[in-house]
Formats: sequence, structure tokens, C-alpha cells
Amino acid sequence: QTIGANFDAAAARWSDREALVVRHQHVRWSYAELKQKVDACAAHLLALGLEPGDRIGIWAPNCAEWVVMQFATAKAGLILVNINPAYRVAELEYALNKVGCSALVLAPRLKSSDYLAMLHELAPELDHATPGLLKAARLPDLRVVIRLGDAHSAGMLNFSGLLQAAPAEAMTRLEQVAATLQFDDPINIQFTSGTTGFPKGATLSHHNILNNGYFIGEAMKLTPADRLCIPVPLYHCFGMVLGNLACTTHGATIVYPDESFDPTAVLETVVAERCTGLHGVPTMFIALLGHADFTRYDLSTLRTGIMAGSPCPVEVMKRVVSDMHMAEVTIAYGMTETSPVSFQSGTDEPLDRRVSTVGRIHPHLEVKIVDGEGRVVPRGTPGELCTRGYSVMIGYWADEAKTREAVDAAGWMHTGDLGVIDAEGYCNIVGRIKDMVIRGGENLYPREIEEFLYRHPKVRDVQVVGVPDPKYGEELCAWVILKEGEAASDEDIRAFCRDQIAHFKIPRYIRFVDSFPMTVTGKIQKFRMREIMSEELG
Ligand code: ATP
Ligand code: MG
Repeated sequence: QTIGANFDAAAARWSDREALVVRHQHVRWSYAELKQKVDACAAHLLALGLEPGDRIGIWAPNCAEWVVMQFATAKAGLILVNINPAYRVAELEYALNKVGCSALVLAPRLKSSDYLAMLHELAPELDHATPGLLKAARLPDLRVVIRLGDAHSAGMLNFSGLLQAAPAEAMTRLEQVAATLQFDDPINIQFTSGTTGFPKGATLSHHNILNNGYFIGEAMKLTPADRLCIPVPLYHCFGMVLGNLACTTHGATIVYPDESFDPTAVLETVVAERCTGLHGVPTMFIALLGHADFTRYDLSTLRTGIMAGSPCPVEVMKRVVSDMHMAEVTIAYGMTETSPVSFQSGTDEPLDRRVSTVGRIHPHLEVKIVDGEGRVVPRGTPGELCTRGYSVMIGYWADEAKTREAVDAAGWMHTGDLGVIDAEGYCNIVGRIKDMVIRGGENLYPREIEEFLYRHPKVRDVQVVGVPDPKYGEELCAWVILKEGEAASDEDIRAFCRDQIAHFKIPRYIRFVDSFPMTVTGKIQKFRMREIMSEELG
């Protein structure tokens, strides 16, 4: 099935139920209303001369138009390209040209980022262009620019025009196009988070992400009575698939609290909208639990949600269950290249299991753990996690070599993550192969040390990285964020470790900070931390 066909069926079945609530835009649309806008938008996009297979970028924060675009492009057979809201001029130029976008939908601005000004810098020709017929020297493929918001800009179309009823011929053309689409056509190019370096554009099909969204909704036991609060960015698979597609495949309501993550907006939204679910990366849950007025919010409507994207500390998971009432919260593990989820804990598994592992392999997927030579290791031994099945991407867009490095001839996705699977199939993510620290020949897993340091009563958040050392090859360095109003010295932290963990696991360097270098998806960039430390240590 294609995403469009699946969405139409949802709109028919749950027509008068609420599909979308966007707090900051005062939007409240039923499934029928959303479908009307999706169909109009899809028909208008084709009427602009875009053809199935053409790439259309979206550069915007979380908003109602994003959802319309997600389903409209799928219906029209266009390939939606998620552009990172944190990009600047050079990155935008790279991304648009790399995948050859012929159209771009953009928000005028987000916080201090002026998207219109950045686009103008790349395409000054906009000022004199006929809307829909741009010719720009630095963006040779880009023809159509569509802006969000009510104001008009020279050379651009206005998104609200695409939501008006489309002429009959355009609707007929849409039906003709929809009938030719195949479930394994590419539908989306999503860039990875850039946690380990420059983001890569994973090309995904209807089949890839629709099925993953469906199985996630199943694992969460979503029903039309559920209302899912989604503060994670839509530009990333967490928002688009674990959020939007899990909801629309189950008739649940999508709720956005704000353009981007704001802890107060999330807490207020959960209360006001009586949300039953909440998604977040660990840093978001840590921020919510640490909110100064946390206890003032009644979060008792919450039942479910997913914590994912990076290692989920056991202590944080436990507090999400006890203090946020999310009795059925699960951890998911995945990556953009696999649509994304491949492991998820079941809601009915014992809490200890659920908070300390990423669960078992998702339905219809295979997994193996291999050593450096590619041999499968015995259960209980750490090695590289490889997954295979419907969820594996088509490939990195226009990058054969990188695709072959990641996906082997037998279809296995080599994740670059270290995992261990126990006798019953529960998986533990030990960390990224690149983040493992080798100190004097000893393999050290930062995750283990972070889990230990989280137990320190003054520690709010902690990250451990390896830094170069002439004697041992690498030494451990802990970056620590203390709880508000607390003070501690290096020695306090080290004393806490003594006699509790092996001496070689005690970080040599402790650095107290207010924040970590992060991607827009809220992930901590350890490679940046290593760079910063290497510079400081000379
Ligand atoms: P890049 O590939 O650009 O460096 P990235 O790998 O962070 O960035 P994503 O595809 O967004 O980009 O994230 C996938 C990665 O996130 C996984 O490979 C894994 O390292 C990490 N991850 C996801 N979920 C979990 C989890 N539950 N526990 C531990 N790590 C996780
Ligand atoms: Mg990755």
C-alpha cells in the first residue's frame, strides 16, 4: 500500500475524529479536514508542473503545513526532502543541489534564523522571478519556491494558495498519478542527525516508513482515543514516523506543542490537550523532569510514549514512569536508514527489563551481531548490530559508495552501533563503535560509566568521551551538568566513583558545563566534545 492510499482509508474511517492539533497555530483539524487540504495541496503541486519522482524540500519547524506536505507529496508521488532547521546558507545549498530539489517549501523564519534572507543570499534572482519559474545560478534545479505564512514575497508562491480547492482537471490528474504509484517508490529523503559528522540523505519508500509507523502504533497500542504530544522535530524520522505515521495508521490525534522543543509548552500542552502519549529523546525528558514548576502540572492523562534516539538512562526511564505517569513508556532503538525503528520494548514487559534494554526485534525484521570480521558472535557478546528486512532504506541518495558501505549485498544494514543480545532476545545498545574508548588496551563503554554517574545526587546530566593521551592512547573525560543550585568539585565526583567502579573507569578529566554540543534532534555530538577537549589539552 502507498502512504496516500493508507491515509485516504484512515480519513474515510475516522473522518470526524481529530487528526491534528497545533497549539501555536491554533489549528484543530478533523481527519476529513486534513484530507481535504492534503488533496488540494497534492493537486496544486502537480499543476505547478512537478512530476512524480521530483524532489521537493521542506525547510520549516513543526507546523500544520508540514503534515499537509508529508501526505500531499506522498499522494502526488513527489519525494519530500526534509531539510534540517539548523542549516545555514552553505548547508542549504549543498542539500538542495545534492538531491536536485526542483521545489522548496520554507517558513519565513524560526527564532533567530531568517530562512528567507538565507535563501535570497543563494538566489538573489528571486526578486525578479515569475513565481514557479525561478532560474538561479547557484541552485540550478530549483524552479518553484513556496513560502508559509500570510505575507507575500517576490518570486514565491504562497502556501495558503495550495490549500484552496483545486480545479477539477488538477484533481483528475492527481487521481491518475496516484493510480500509477508503487509501494516501493522512493517517497522521502531524510538526512541523518549528524551526530557523528556530516548528515547523510537516506532514501526511503512508502513501504519502508508506512509499515514502520504502523508497527510502532501497534507496539504502543494506539487507538482513536489517543492524543500524542510530539515535541520532536518533524524533519527527523522520530517526528514523521514514530509520531505522524503511528497516529494516522491508528486514527489517533497528532498534537504539536510548539515550533521546536520548549519544556513549558510541552507540559502545558499535555495538560490542556489531555494527551495520552508523549515522545522525546532522553535530553527532552531530562529537561521536563527538571522543570522548575514540574510538580504543578497534572500529567495523569499520560499512558504511553517513546524515548529513543540516544542511550536512555535507567534512572530517567524510572522517573518517567513514576513521576510522569507513563506506565507504558517504551524505549525504541533505530536509525534513519531503517525507517527508523528496529527494536522496541513491549508495553507489558516487566519494568526492569523495559528500562534497561531496547527490547526485542520488531516484527518482520532480522538481526545479527557480528565481530570485526563479520562473524556472528555468541549470545551475550557485544558486537556490531546488523538488521535486515522491509525497513532498510533504498540507499543514500546519489551515493553508491556510502550505500554499499552501510548495506551489504545480502541486505544487512551495518548500524555502526555495538549491541548485546541476551538468551531471550532482549538487546542492549552498548554505544556507537566510534564512541568506544580504548584506554591502555582496555575497551571502555562510556554508557556504563554515564549510567553510574547519573546516580550521583548532584548530577543532572553527564556524558563521557575519550580524549587522546600519550601514555594510554585515550583517557576518559566526563562532561557534567549539575542540578540547579548545586556545586561540586572534580574530586567529589571521583570520590563517588572510588571503590564503586574499577579504577580505570574513573574519568581522568571532569568538566562542569551548562550544556552539551547538540544536533537539532537533541542528540549529543560526542565528536564535537572530543574536538573541544583535544584543542584544550593541546
Ligand atoms: P549520523 O548518522 O549523521 O552521525 P545519527 O546516527 O545520530 O547521526 P540518526 O539516524 O538520527 O542519526 O540516529 C540513529 C542512531 O541513534 C543509532 O545509530 C544509535 O547510535 C542512536 N540510537 C537510537 N536509538 C537509540 C537507543 N534507544 N539507545 C541508544 N542509542 C540509540
Ligand atoms: Mg547514524
